[in-house]
Amino acid sequence: MINRKYYNLDYGMDHLKTSVQIIGWVSKRRNFGDLVFMDIRDRTGIMQVVFQDAQLPLAKDLKNEYLVNIWGQLVERQDPNPKLPTGMLEVIVSTCEVITKAKQTPMIVADKTDALEELRLKYRYLDLRRPIMQHNLMVRAKIVKAMRDYLDEQGFIDVETPLLTKSTPEGSREYLVPSRVHPGEFYALAQSPQIFKQMLMIAGFERYYQISRCFRDEDLRADRQLDFTQVDIEASFMDSDHLFSHMEAMLQDVFQQALNQELALPFKRMSFKKAMDNYGTDKPDLRFEMQLQDATEIFKAVDFELFKDIISEGGVVKALVVNQAQALTRRKVDELTALVKKHHARSLVVLKYVNGELTGSIRKFLSDIQAQQIIDQFKLVDNDAILLVGDQWEPACIGAGALRSHFGKQLFEFDADHFEFVWVVDMPMFEYVASEKRLVARHHPFTSPQSQYVDSLRSKPLEALANAYDLVCNGFEIAGGSQRIYDPELQKEVFELIGFSQADIEKRFGFFVEAFDYGTPPHGGIAFGLDRLAMVLTHAESLRDVIAFPKNAAARCPLTGAPSTITSAQLAELSLKVAAKDKET
Ligand code: ASP
Repeated sequence: MINRKYYNLDYGMDHLKTSVQIIGWVSKRRNFGDLVFMDIRDRTGIMQVVFQDAQLPLAKDLKNEYLVNIWGQLVERQDPNPKLPTGMLEVIVSTCEVITKAKQTPMIVADKTDALEELRLKYRYLDLRRPIMQHNLMVRAKIVKAMRDYLDEQGFIDVETPLLTKSTPEGSREYLVPSRVHPGEFYALAQSPQIFKQMLMIAGFERYYQISRCFRDEDLRADRQLDFTQVDIEASFMDSDHLFSHMEAMLQDVFQQALNQELALPFKRMSFKKAMDNYGTDKPDLRFEMQLQDATEIFKAVDFELFKDIISEGGVVKALVVNQAQALTRRKVDELTALVKKHHARSLVVLKYVNGELTGSIRKFLSDIQAQQIIDQFKLVDNDAILLVGDQWEPACIGAGALRSHFGKQLFEFDADHFEFVWVVDMPMFEYVASEKRLVARHHPFTSPQSQYVDSLRSKPLEALANAYDLVCNGFEIAGGSQRIYDPELQKEVFELIGFSQADIEKRFGFFVEAFDYGTPPHGGIAFGLDRLAMVLTHAESLRDVIAFPKNAAARCPLTGAPSTITSAQLAELSLKVAAKDKET
């Protein structure tokens, strides 16, 4: 067995002229006749080794990704490479042993790769050898360590909760696991430890955390995975302000330890209403301003039927001013219209301000005075465009917000160390889901309403604001949580408002409601999406780049082939029959 003592990066100028051992994978070779240079890669980086003289033949059979054990003398490089941490050094090889050979790899093991993601996931162990992937996972580990250390120091206790559990009402579709010993009965894979962490508060632990796997059977998008990791936190006798200051201090440690960067505290706070009104999203990217404005007042008086109808139905017209909009051609406007519609907003109308004139298809509906009002209110300057989205308040905001983030990505360049955090607070308790003809909890049904809305909860549920909050960074929601209901009567009322009958409550989580009858402390918590936090902090393009073995966009694991069919014997053992495709492996 070969014991490693040092990594490539451990070697510095103070090791010059000493005999060193380099263990790693051959990652590049350059032949110069009587000299062969090779880059040997370990998890810390690259070390250049040189084969010369009598050692030259040792290099002959070495190929990329061979794993080698080299001894040699550390010397200063003839041609230093300041871009590499070990770029001042090289090793003159004296012995070289091949530990294991490698076949020609199906993808190049280097940061710059043209391998398709499917191939990268199939040969994930090779993909993970790429320095960028090693970096991402190491930063992720540092994030976790900093969080653990902080929480541990502050008296939060790490408790594990079951993954195989009972179906809970958190809103997402669950994975079900058939019970072999209880035919016809199923466990659900935990969507989150929510119910258990609240019961740990009832059990008196007071401060809890867990790095927890969670499972949600959702359609995959770029920033979702079926199984993902939360840093889950709950505390009793800790109001939102107190919790926020803990979370901010914890993130300060994370930034210090994972990125070596100072984080300015406290974070900004913004109401859900303001976030939607000004940024068109509950996840505002505050690295740039470009705020949405309101054009409803002006269009109330304009004879343009579409907006008039929308406004008379209680809707609004949101406006986004884009400077230097010469490139906003008809085709581009069509694309933007499609974008707005994709976000379920009804319409996009564009006016341009060129050579002191307002132009566009709806100009004819505006009197000169109204045109001037628009120019004045929105402080238009030459070559501005004003993009108008009309609909009910929420879809109009979201549609205009999609335009804002589209232009944000196009018009602004962001520094890698620029992180803008904001707490989004004062979330509504409920939203009305027309397709189900019922209210649903915006966060989850254990979230408490703000005290001033308790009395009117039944009569005006859609006006009630919750004690719920999200933490947003650069346009990504990285954590969310709430103060919980701890009064059993109020909990019952909320369940009823979202359409659960007494019998439903009893059947699905009677055990949970019952627990509240035994001296429940006021409590609340939060959960960080660890994958997303790691993605934002490493600037990875997708969650898959910060997860060692993720599923692809089709919810499959190309490496293992999961999901896969099972034998009829396995099915029989579980008392199951597959209706749709009775395939067997
Ligand atoms: N369990 C919640 C979630 O997964 C977080 C919380 O309320 O603490 O979103």
